[in-house]
Amino acid sequence: MVRHTVVVGGGVMGSAAAWHLASRGDQVTLFEQFPPGHDRGSSHGTSRIFRLAYDDAFYVGLAVRALPLWRKLEEETGREVLELTGAVDHGPVGATEALHRALTAAGRPVERLTPDQAAERWPGLRVDGTAVFHPEAGRVHADHAVEAFQEAARQHGARVRHGVKVTRLAVRGQRVEVVTDGEEAVVADAVVVAAGSWTPGRLAGVVPGLPPMRITQEQPVHFPAPDALGWPSFIHHGGPDEAVYGLGSLDGVKVGFHGVGPVVDPDHRDRTIDQQAVARLQKYAERWLPGVDATEPAALTCLYTTTPDEDFVIDRRGPVTVVGGFSGHGFKFAPVVGELAADLVGGGNGLDRFSMTRPRTGG
Ligand SMILES: Cc1cc2nc3c(=O)[nH]c(=O)nc-3n(C[C@H](O)[C@H](O)[C@H](O)COP(=O)(O)OP(=O)(O)OC[C@H]3O[C@@H](n4cnc5c(N)ncnc54)[C@H](O)[C@@H]3O)c2cc1C
Repeated sequence: MVRHTVVVGGGVMGSAAAWHLASRGDQVTLFEQFPPGHDRGSSHGTSRIFRLAYDDAFYVGLAVRALPLWRKLEEETGREVLELTGAVDHGPVGATEALHRALTAAGRPVERLTPDQAAERWPGLRVDGTAVFHPEAGRVHADHAVEAFQEAARQHGARVRHGVKVTRLAVRGQRVEVVTDGEEAVVADAVVVAAGSWTPGRLAGVVPGLPPMRITQEQPVHFPAPDALGWPSFIHHGGPDEAVYGLGSLDGVKVGFHGVGPVVDPDHRDRTIDQQAVARLQKYAERWLPGVDATEPAALTCLYTTTPDEDFVIDRRGPVTVVGGFSGHGFKFAPVVGELAADLVGGGNGLDRFSMTRPRTGG
């Protein structure tokens, strides 16, 4: 019998899950509350950093696993989604050496650079102390990636329905009743909840034991730069402010502080741009990014959904699989997240690190 699986949420994670599930033969229906290309969640815009460098072998391995899956998505859809321009990490020696060790242990190429060597290669970027570069990194075009996952899912028979909100989920034995704002009621064999910042609200009373998730509104800025698309992605560890990340994109060089925004309700948030935060990024750019025009910032807002230990949740309770808590670093792993979700729906085991009942750490 063909399994009918409903996916709630058409951001990058739900779309990736729909692709894997449909390609394995599930009859998939994906419901997304907003129109295609909306900018009210976490997956919009022209750029996300792809990188292998984590000071944690687990995440290095996950990113290594994602790389060929991004290429498979590109092959299936004929679209370019991931462009490798490399990544520069700079800051205190402890931070850069930890990354160098982790990449070397995984057998991936990485090199140390002095500030002078870095300045010669990327005159627009000033590095602070020590630096490492790894080439298997770069930029994912976020909007194109979401579109490509949905397109690939459709090619395998999935129905992708925008403008339909799931208003109720109710577990009925081994199945789940899914009700939409159009008063449709579907009884599915399995549901994947990939509702981003709406996940805790959507799952209240449906799946017990979900770790707390903190929803914040983050506000990166694009600065014009003549050669933005040639920039490597970069992270400035332990800089003068919080950690700063950035990368070149079609919109300029995107720069942001990691996870510093205010806590918000995803349905009732003030999308007003915080001009003081913009001014701090301009100050940062004046000092560390001589290749951008710091006088012309263009800010955007985006939601982080963060668990206390900053690990994701990818787990199943009966017929309900949950993928959530991807904070500010989930995008690069999307094709693996979709694969893990499809494994769980198919009765496979998840990864302990992403279980709902892992020991809690962090705030
Ligand atoms: C500023 C910023 C920068 C980032 N930079 C990077 C980066 O450089 N590299 C990286 O790897 N990651 C990065 N990330 C993280 C990454 O973008 C997110 O982890 C990822 O996009 C989360 O995707 P998602 O599908 O879980 O959530 P979302 O994209 O929010 O998707 C959830 C979807 O579910 C829909 N939905 C919710 N409830 C319902 C319902 N009841 N019915 C129907 N639909 C519903 C929503 O409308 C939404 O479209 C960044 C995030 C932000 C905010």
